[in-house]
Amino acid sequence: MENKSPGKDVSEQDLIEKIPLVAKKINNQKTIVKVSEAVKFGGNNIPLIVGPNLVESREQIFQIAEYAKKLGANMLRGGCFKPLTFPYRSSKYFETGEEGLFWLKEAGDHFDLPTVTEAVSSEQLILVAKYSNMIQIGTRNMQNYPLLIDAAKTSLPIMLKRGYGASLRDWLGAAEYILYHGNSNVVLCERGVSVPHTHKSSSRYLLDLQVVPAAQELTHLPVITDPSHACFWASWVEPLTKASIAVGADGIMIETHPTPSEAAVDPLQALSEVELKRCIDSCSAVAKAVGRSLGSRI
Ligand code: PEP
Ligand code: MN
Repeated sequence: MENKSPGKDVSEQDLIEKIPLVAKKINNQKTIVKVSEAVKFGGNNIPLIVGPNLVESREQIFQIAEYAKKLGANMLRGGCFKPLTFPYRSSKYFETGEEGLFWLKEAGDHFDLPTVTEAVSSEQLILVAKYSNMIQIGTRNMQNYPLLIDAAKTSLPIMLKRGYGASLRDWLGAAEYILYHGNSNVVLCERGVSVPHTHKSSSRYLLDLQVVPAAQELTHLPVITDPSHACFWASWVEPLTKASIAVGADGIMIETHPTPSEAAVDPLQALSEVELKRCIDSCSAVAKAVGRSLGSRI
C-alpha cells in the first residue's frame, strides 16, 4: 500500500505498519513506566529528575543528592560517560566513567533516589546497567539502532532523548526499536531541537513544547522534557519547566550544580540550590493547578 503521507507526518498507515507497538490502541491508553515504587512516569505524579550534567566527584554528587531530595526531587541524574563536543580532556573538562557511576549509585542509594545516566556506546551498557536504575540514550544517539537494541536487552527502563534534528516520526520509530526488542519501559524526552532562529546565537536549541501533546496523541509512552539542555540558560529553566508542566509533560529533568560557574560541563544551564528551590516551588504550584503533583511534593 502506498504511504499517502510521506515525510515528517505520521500517517494512519504508519501507526499500523511502522510503529504498531508504540502507537496508542485506544484514545486514553497510557503506559506507566515504573522505575521504583516512588517513581512512575505516565501517571498523575510528574517525576522530577535533578542532578549535575557531570558526576564530578563523590562529594559533589552527595551534596547535590542531599539538597535535591530535600527540595522534592524523586530521581537523581548525572553523566559519567559523556558525549562531549570536543575531544580534549583536562582537569576542567572530563568524564568520570565507572568511578562516577559508583558515586552516583552510592548517592542515589543513600538518599533513596533512583538514578539515570547515559550510555554512549554498547560497551558501556553493561556497566551503566550494573549501577543505574534507568538508561539514558542521548540526543546524538537517538538513531544509533544497535545501541537501542542493546539497551532494550538490559530490561532496564530507558529514557530516549529526541534527536535535536529528528521529526516526531523518527523519534517514535527509534522507540519502536526498543519495544520491538522486548522492552516496553520507554520514556520519551524532549530536549530541544536545532532551528535557525533560536533567541540568542548561543541558545543552542529550542524546546519543542508542541511535541509533548503531539507525541501524546499518538503514543501511549510517557513524554517528559529537559528544559536545561534545550535553552542552555539557567534563567530560562524555570519558565520552560512551568510551560512543560502546563502542556502535559509526564516528567521533568533539570540540571543543578552547587556552584554553577564551576561546573565542568554546561555551566550556564545549571541551577544553584537556591534557584532550584525557587523553580520547584513555583513549578509545583503549576502541577497542582493542572491536577498533578511534582516529584515528592504533594
Ligand atoms: C545530558 O543529559 O547530559 C545530555 C548530554 O543530554 P543530550 O543528549 O540531550 O544533549
Ligand atoms: Mn549535558
